[in-house]
Amino acid sequence: MTKIKEIRTKVYQWNGKTVPPQNNFCTNASDLLYEKSDAMSSFRFHEWLICEVETNDGHVGIGNAALAPQLVKNTIDTYLKPLVIGEDPFDYSYIWEKMYRKTLNWGRRGLGMVAISAIDIAIWDVLGKITNKPVFKLLGGRTKEKIPVYASKLYAQPLKQLQEEAEKYKNEGFKMFKSRMGWGPKDGSEGMKKNLQLLEAVREVIGEDTDLMVDCYMGWNLDYTKRMLPKMAKYNLRWLEEPVHADDIHGYAELNNMNIIPISGGEHEFNLFGFKQLLELNAVSYIQYDNNRVGGFTVAQKINALAEAYQIPVVPHAGQMHNYHLTMSNFNCPISEFFPVHEVEVGNELFYYIFEGDPAPVNGMIDLDDNAPGLGLKVTDKYKSDFKILE
Ligand SMILES: [Mg+2]
Repeated sequence: MTKIKEIRTKVYQWNGKTVPPQNNFCTNASDLLYEKSDAMSSFRFHEWLICEVETNDGHVGIGNAALAPQLVKNTIDTYLKPLVIGEDPFDYSYIWEKMYRKTLNWGRRGLGMVAISAIDIAIWDVLGKITNKPVFKLLGGRTKEKIPVYASKLYAQPLKQLQEEAEKYKNEGFKMFKSRMGWGPKDGSEGMKKNLQLLEAVREVIGEDTDLMVDCYMGWNLDYTKRMLPKMAKYNLRWLEEPVHADDIHGYAELNNMNIIPISGGEHEFNLFGFKQLLELNAVSYIQYDNNRVGGFTVAQKINALAEAYQIPVVPHAGQMHNYHLTMSNFNCPISEFFPVHEVEVGNELFYYIFEGDPAPVNGMIDLDDNAPGLGLKVTDKYKSDFKILE
């Protein structure tokens, strides 16, 4: 019988070059505090966790997590690893339940679930390697020829620069784009105007026959968003993402039920029950969990089934391999996010400095290899000297 023999965690800390912080680059939840310190500090991260699951027959699965990697490492090493060693990885559903129930009093949301996610992703990678199949072939197989992806960056910046960036993605063949809002409730009507100018500038470049989405990263509140929605309506947005913070689910519901712009969210929601609440309230028009936060493949598949019953599409946060396999294997996952490869800035792009094997988009589409076992990801040595690795 296959058994899990060892679990190893490593934090990859980026010490290489970074793009310096910029003001009003993207709204975020800290914007509503009165303190004058760097409001963006909670938004940037320059560390990533890798979790390796090794079986007794020598296969190694790789999972990952990006939220608070050092705490997640500690959580896995201290609490989860002893629960998983000795188990058969094919009993993934039982292993998941064991990790969940034995950490329930402190772990069911946030860090606990991120740690469970990293292990679950590594387990699915190892299952693919043992069976010599890509993970998506184990989950439901190919449901689409290719995955259409949207270029997700376009942070707030001087308008000319913003337009040049949009032009670049358009020339690369993208037909869907996501931009960010720079100003929020504390910036008054002048900030509202500046936000609208960002949308105007991007639309001018990408034209009317493309999809435009907008992300607020929880930097607005209910009152502000209610005033913004009618002003934004003319830009024909596919969705407005995370306008209010993740706990204000009734705020999401109120905004989504205004039927002016579809509201999306879920990258800060966890487990099946969190999404059940959002769906019951018609709080979102798109679900955007991230596999490496929500609980891993094992729970993501349950959320996918539930969302399909409500006919709410699932567009996982971030794209990247751990999410692409879900998008490929689920009919109700129509498109995916794609973070353009870029110098290290927010932190999302660190993924490309740690792993190789993530597919590059061609004309706004990505494809997965039918023959690459597991996730199809390998840790790269290319940037090794720019990382400090905590083991
Ligand atoms: Mg987002």
